[in-house]
Amino acid sequence: MSSRENIKDLGLTKQREVILQVIREADEHLTANEIFDKAKQLLPGISFATVYNSLRFLKESGHIGEISFGNGASRFDAMASRHDHALCTKCGKLVDMEIELPNEVINFAAQFSKFKLESIELTLRGLCPECSK
Ligand SMILES: [Zn+2]
Ligand SMILES: [Zn+2]
Repeated sequence: MSSRENIKDLGLTKQREVILQVIREADEHLTANEIFDKAKQLLPGISFATVYNSLRFLKESGHIGEISFGNGASRFDAMASRHDHALCTKCGKLVDMEIELPNEVINFAAQFSKFKLESIELTLRGLCPECSK
C-alpha cells in the first residue's frame, strides 16, 4: 500500500477534509449515505449534496476509489490505486486484497472481450469467516 499524504497537507476545504477522514478511518467501504451519517457527526449542518459533490471531487483527484457492483449503491474506498476485493454474499462485507494476475489471464480477458484493456479487477464472492462459521 502506498503511503498516504497527510490530509492537512492536501489543501482541501474543511468539508472535503472531513469526508476524506471518514473514508480513511472506516475499516469498511462505505456508501455515500454512510459517509453522510458519519460526516454529520463531525460537521453538523453538512448537506448530502456537499458530501456527494465532495466524493466526486475526491475521486476525480485520485484521493479515493469508487466501487460499484452494478446493483446497489456504490461504495467508496480509501485506497485509490488498483486493487481487488472479496465480497461476502451473505453480509456484504467487502475486503481489500491485492492479487497479481498472470499475464495470460489478462491477455485472455482482453482477447475474449475484444476490449482494449485499461484495467482489470478481481472480485472474489463467497462467505466471509464470520458468515461461514
Ligand atoms: Zn459475511
Ligand atoms: Zn478496496
